[in-house]
Amino acid sequence: MSAKPIFDKEAFCEHCGDLEPYSMTFNDDGVWWCQWCVRTDPEEYGVENVNWEESQEQEKQHQAKYYESKVKSLSPKNFEFITCEAGDWEVLKLNGEIVAEGHSINRHQWVEILKDLGCNFEEREISDEDMEMGEY
Ligand SMILES: [Zn+2]
Repeated sequence: MSAKPIFDKEAFCEHCGDLEPYSMTFNDDGVWWCQWCVRTDPEEYGVENVNWEESQEQEKQHQAKYYESKVKSLSPKNFEFITCEAGDWEVLKLNGEIVAEGHSINRHQWVEILKDLGCNFEEREISDEDMEMGEY
């Protein structure tokens, strides 16, 4: 097997199962192992020449980058909705950047923006009776 550590988002070990994203893994003919499993028998797994200190440092960097971007994606979403007196143009900004503009930002555009932000959005039609009865 290759003694090259791999850092993947979907980290998996045959023995330990799912691992934290970007954990150090090794691929042995299509079978994935974590560093702790291969280290139980470095010779068997052919990883006796791996520089563990350096590899763990790499793992830390990969994971730091991953969690940093994750935190960023959870940071506040500051929307600005800008109209004018004539009412013939609208601009929607997210964190200072224009995400939509036009004569009228329609429902479809709003939905797309929500989806882009990772929101699950379901649209469905119900009967008039259900609507009247508040059965939604
Ligand atoms: Zn393992």
